[in-house]
Amino acid sequence: MPERITIIGSGPAGWTAAIYAARANLEPIVYEGAFTEENRQKGTLPLGQLSLTTEVENFPGFPAGDLTTFLDTSIDEKKRKYMAPHGKEGVSGPELMELMRQQAINFGARIKTDDIVDIDLSGTPFKMKSLAGDEFESHAVIIATGARANYLGLESESRFKNMGVSACAVCDGAMPRYRNNQLVVVGGGDSAMEEANFLTKYASKVYIVHRRDEFRASKIMADRALANSKIEVKWNSQIDEVLGDDTNGVTGVRIRSTVDPDVTEELQATGYFAAIGHTPNTDFLKGQLETNDKGYVVWPVSHRTNTSVDGVFAAGDVADDHYKQAITAAGTGCAAALDAERWLSARGLE
Ligand SMILES: Cc1cc2nc3c(=O)[nH]c(=O)nc-3n(C[C@H](O)[C@H](O)[C@H](O)COP(=O)(O)OP(=O)(O)OC[C@H]3O[C@@H](n4cnc5c(N)ncnc54)[C@H](O)[C@@H]3O)c2cc1C
Repeated sequence: MPERITIIGSGPAGWTAAIYAARANLEPIVYEGAFTEENRQKGTLPLGQLSLTTEVENFPGFPAGDLTTFLDTSIDEKKRKYMAPHGKEGVSGPELMELMRQQAINFGARIKTDDIVDIDLSGTPFKMKSLAGDEFESHAVIIATGARANYLGLESESRFKNMGVSACAVCDGAMPRYRNNQLVVVGGGDSAMEEANFLTKYASKVYIVHRRDEFRASKIMADRALANSKIEVKWNSQIDEVLGDDTNGVTGVRIRSTVDPDVTEELQATGYFAAIGHTPNTDFLKGQLETNDKGYVVWPVSHRTNTSVDGVFAAGDVADDHYKQAITAAGTGCAAALDAERWLSARGLE
């Protein structure tokens, strides 16, 4: 018997879709990803991007406060071993994701800790294969596999992640370590301009480090950044190393001229923001869904989560290269489950 609905992915989009589909008695199966070294390296382990961060200050419903009792009564103790003991600062990323996962289980979602590695969308029911060797069919599919932030790949970048290295100004910029301090943004596209401008709300100064002598960004975005008196651009420069120590995290960066490699300079900074784009996790789709020029799954109909293949829905960052937030991912996860439920119902498959 084919599954009625399969949800692939385990971020806020996947779990919200699972909660809604389970409450609609669709008994969804969720492939949450596998704990492999490859996924660890890419930053795509189960529980999604929020499992890579500490505090989440902007998810509605989780103000700062001591969540200990709530967590003790909501999540199995075994599931809490890797969570940050973070006192009264509100919810952490891993905690928020475990709470969503548990909520989906409470309503009857079934979970496989496994990657979908192959999918055939050429006819219904859709055929799928997992890394562990599961082969099965499903009437409806929700793709919620998210995206991953691109980093330069320096060892010093990984060392200071969550200690001053970030890839999301909107998520992290308001945190105390970034306020009234100098920050560095790497990149030259629209997202770098946007991140740098946003960070000037908090920072005393923002350096944009860019390899070339002009930005790739649109003129309007570049002009806005160049007109901002808190922004200084280091042209023709690349990051040599993120500087810091285990106590303070990031303390600065060393940059190197791309014109004369003998020329280096150290910039003092408490934060380093990589703004060199994201990569949507769509490899396993092997081009079977329409994607945009950056590889994100396209929603052909405005305000609907349908994709170019009838019966396949997409939710969260895998289809959203614009907002990229946990709450927007959760919102489209809800929408995808409702869209899928109606699709199944119209075919008598509910
Ligand atoms: C360091 C960091 C901090 C952030 N902080 C915040 C914040 O404070 N507030 C905020 O709103 N947003 C924050 N964000 C952004 C937020 O995490 C994302 O917008 C959100 O997680 C996107 O959710 P998603 O459900 O689309 O997918 P993701 O969270 O990207 O999760 C998708 C997951 O699906 C799984 N998966 C992928 N491929 C497969 C496959 N083939 N088979 C099975 N499973 C698969 C993987 O485990 C993957 O990680 C942050 C992001 C980062 C990187």
